[in-house]
Amino acid sequence: MKDKKACDAMGKSTRAIHLGGLENPIVGEVSVPIFQSSTFSFPSAQDGAARFSGEQTGYIYTRLGNPTINALEENVASMEAGYGGTATATGMAAISTLFLSTLNGGDHVVATDSLYGTTRVLLESELSRFGIRTTFVDTSNPEDTLHAMEKGKTRMVYLETPTNPTMILTDIRRTGEIAHAQGAILAVDNTFASPYLQRPLQLGADVVVHSLTKYINGHSDVVGGMIVAGSSELYKRIRRTLTLFGGTMDPHQAWLILRGVRTLPLRLEKAQANAMQLAVYLRSHPNVTWVRYPGLPEHPQHELAKQQMDGFGAMICFGVKSGLEGGISVMNSVRLITLAVSLGGVESLIEH
Ligand code: PLP
Repeated sequence: MKDKKACDAMGKSTRAIHLGGLENPIVGEVSVPIFQSSTFSFPSAQDGAARFSGEQTGYIYTRLGNPTINALEENVASMEAGYGGTATATGMAAISTLFLSTLNGGDHVVATDSLYGTTRVLLESELSRFGIRTTFVDTSNPEDTLHAMEKGKTRMVYLETPTNPTMILTDIRRTGEIAHAQGAILAVDNTFASPYLQRPLQLGADVVVHSLTKYINGHSDVVGGMIVAGSSELYKRIRRTLTLFGGTMDPHQAWLILRGVRTLPLRLEKAQANAMQLAVYLRSHPNVTWVRYPGLPEHPQHELAKQQMDGFGAMICFGVKSGLEGGISVMNSVRLITLAVSLGGVESLIEH
């Protein structure tokens, strides 16, 4: 909404803090207000008709658009260097909306095998009901992705990098080349990196999805999702699907997440510095059998992490002696760290 040239020149931290606001503040407010209104009045019947037809800009109804939600969409889309953002009720609403807007019965998807479990179940058990097939491969090996592509059938390659929970990375640029050569789009779940550390659209992806619940909100108090499209065509298609299926975000949720995103750079810098120390400590612990953190030189894709990410993030995966029993013992012994699912909040969580 601000001057385009000034926005283009902004660094990522400046974007996190300054982008996403009202074009014309109402009373000079610094923080974007919560527009807790389900509907918006039209100056006249003719204006209402013009807004519905798209001849006139202006708000109609919160499922279709709301100033607080739009502020968050503008902020995250700008950090991802995308064309436009579409906010959703949860991360899974973002992922399901992406699939529903871009895939048809008979289409084929190639996806990372160690995806976030719920995304895998969605593809395997739900989209399959509509005739959409998925082949899960180790996308960290581009050859596997190449071999899984079905000529004329594969419409999407779907990556998570780094993956939840195995911390495996995939080469986004190389995978984009493979997808595009076969006429498929490349979609990336960027939740584990956040746009502060990785911008898949700049590496050749067509669309990015997020669970905003994690680093972007960062306080373990709200769920939310975002789809950032790289082109206007994809953006319009996604927006249409979301308004029809209805998994929209609400204004208060958007406001909380917008407050969280302002400190994303500071939180993530500190969290990843702490994670590096913890990874080094774990590596030398006598009861730890292995540690997987992209910042450690022995991580299988440490070099790739250095190339395609601006930092190594704050998620660590490790194994302990005595297998399951040892793991349970660690889970039940933590004191400061909380035994809970999720990630990216200001506290540290652990999960088996
Ligand atoms: N993608 C990844 C990588 C996740 O870790 C999660 C949740 O843990 C999701 C998507 C789903 O997000 P949400 O729980 O906000 O629906």
